[in-house]
Amino acid sequence: MKKIEDYVRSIPDFPEPGIIFRDVTSVLQSKDGLKLAIDQMQALLKDVEFDVIAGPESRGFIFGVPIAYNLNKAFIPVRKKGKLPCETVSMEYDLEYGKAVIEMHKDAIKPGQKVVIIDDLIATGGTIEAITKLIEELGGEVIKIIFLMELKGLNGRAKLQGYDVEAVIKYE
Ligand code: IMP
Repeated sequence: MKKIEDYVRSIPDFPEPGIIFRDVTSVLQSKDGLKLAIDQMQALLKDVEFDVIAGPESRGFIFGVPIAYNLNKAFIPVRKKGKLPCETVSMEYDLEYGKAVIEMHKDAIKPGQKVVIIDDLIATGGTIEAITKLIEELGGEVIKIIFLMELKGLNGRAKLQGYDVEAVIKYE
C-alpha cells in the first residue's frame, strides 16, 4: 500500500536553482493519490466544529471544495486580484518568489463564523497569513489551517503563530 508521500514528485532547481519543487499534480493524476490526499486532510477536521472552508486560488480550491462538499459546508474562494465581481477586501503579501494580491468578497464571511483554511502547501506562510487577515477583517474566526504539504525549512509557521496549523506531509 503506497503512502501519500509516494505520490509527490520532487523537482530539483524549479522554478529557480536551489529550490526543490514539490509537485502536487503527481498526486492529483493518480486516483489513489487524490483519494489519500483528500481523506487524510479531511481526517484532520474530525471533531472540529466550524462553519465554512476558505481556500486560495488555485490549488486551495482543488482540496478545499471536495472536503467542504463531504462535510456539508460552504466553500469561500480566495482569488487573485481583479477576478471577483462584487465588493472585495484585498491584501498584498510576499511570496517565496515575488509579491501578490489576494481578494475575498466582502459578504463571503459573516461576523462570528468559524473558518477553516485549506491549501496545498505552506512555504513561507505569506499567502495564508494574508488570508487570516482578510477573514479577521470580515469578522470571521480562523479555527484551523490545513495543508497537504509543509516545507518546514521555510518556517512558514512563524507567520501563523497562535493558529492551529496541521500538514499531512512535512518536508525538512
Ligand atoms: P507561501 O505563501 O510562501 O507559503 O506559498 C505558498 C504557495 O506557493 C502555495 O499555495 C503553493 O501553491 C506555492 N508553492 C510554493 N512552493 C511550492 C512547491 O514547492 N510546490 C508547490 N507549490 C509551491
